Amino acid sequence: MTIDQFNFAGKKAFVRVDFNVPLDENFNITDDTRMRAALPTLKKILADGGSIIIGSHLGRPKGVTDKFSLKHILKHLNELLGVEVQFANDCMGEEAAVKAAALKPGEVLLLENLRFYAEEEGKPRGLAEDATDEEKAAAKKAVKESQKEFTKKLASYADCYVNDAFGTAHRAHASTALIAKYFDKDNKMFGYLMEKEVKAVDKVLNDIHRPFTAIMGGSKVSSKIEIIENLLNKVDNLIIAGGMTYTFTKAMGGKIGLSICEDDKLDLALDLMKKAKDKGVNLVLAVDAKVADSFSNDANTQFCAVNEIPDGWEGLDIGPKTEELFANVIKGSKTILWNGPTGVFEFDNFTHGSRAVAEAIVEATKNGAFSLVGGGDSVACVNKFGLAKEVSYVSTGGGALLEAIEGKILPGIAAINE
Ligand code: AMP
Repeated sequence: MTIDQFNFAGKKAFVRVDFNVPLDENFNITDDTRMRAALPTLKKILADGGSIIIGSHLGRPKGVTDKFSLKHILKHLNELLGVEVQFANDCMGEEAAVKAAALKPGEVLLLENLRFYAEEEGKPRGLAEDATDEEKAAAKKAVKESQKEFTKKLASYADCYVNDAFGTAHRAHASTALIAKYFDKDNKMFGYLMEKEVKAVDKVLNDIHRPFTAIMGGSKVSSKIEIIENLLNKVDNLIIAGGMTYTFTKAMGGKIGLSICEDDKLDLALDLMKKAKDKGVNLVLAVDAKVADSFSNDANTQFCAVNEIPDGWEGLDIGPKTEELFANVIKGSKTILWNGPTGVFEFDNFTHGSRAVAEAIVEATKNGAFSLVGGGDSVACVNKFGLAKEVSYVSTGGGALLEAIEGKILPGIAAINE
């Protein structure tokens, strides 16, 4: 079932959203992107004459914690939706059930943070540090057992289920995946945001226009290894950028000064280079760097060859030759995936390389390429440069996007398709 096909008139929908928004110390929302991203789905349901039970998590509470209460976002949700949203102080219990049952068309109920219950994630809590393996196994079994009741209860509030929380689609949690079992195929669907995410991922995985270029930045090879290996089977060009660069440079015998490096991953870097060669993938590495004499925005800087970084200096961004090299590859591409900055973009003096990459992606997009930007920091980059609207798609999912691109089946997606 698709959300456009479904008529919500007179129906109660359980909508799993990702309202895990950042809050400041006074509980003001500092970035409401995730809330706004769910509005098209919520508004469609209300416009049809349905009612909504909203489920979400906020933060990583270990139990009931005022700091992580969704009541902090209630006022803003009212404003965004233009509806007086009701609140249930507990997602289980009498109050939630009574309020859900009494919902009339056009009404909305926000449930308290689902992760106040260990059952949402299905992971035991409060285990003693010295718990034995048996105790751990017993606790796990117990929470899995009670998770069934928890999930069933959430499902009982509604006639249909809508998943619009792409950010948690890679987790087999009660409200993101398990709950779907309680609804037949005709009564469960993706929300608009999920639909867009799934389509964007599908385009870079299954509908590839070539050349396909992936730009992988960020700090560590170790955290990107699986995705790099998977991408080697798909892309024509793989650009390696960011802190990962120096592990490759050192592995090839270059001098990297104080640059970030994973010394235990040197063999891995060489192995990736060999795999790229065997598969005919053009692995593009930096040739020069903007180096600094300390890890700070105000450090002294100079440009040098990436494999000749002086002692005491560290590479914090790519240099002009590399910018040109990367930009040429990107501009000649028809499918582009960007994850991770080319340097320490949090420091204004080291954003130039990431900006050059973003601008090249924008130009390629204008020339007809499909460009997907995803993973927290590259999204922050395109937002910082004001270029988010000029790429084909900016994903809201970090881990979920990377796992999807690694080729993993995401439980949140599978549960709807089953
Ligand atoms: P990740 O979370 O792995 O995508 O990495 C993103 C982080 O990598 C950002 O916080 C960047 O500041 C950092 N980063 C990028 N390039 C470098 C570099 N050359 N040295 C140190 N950190 C870097």
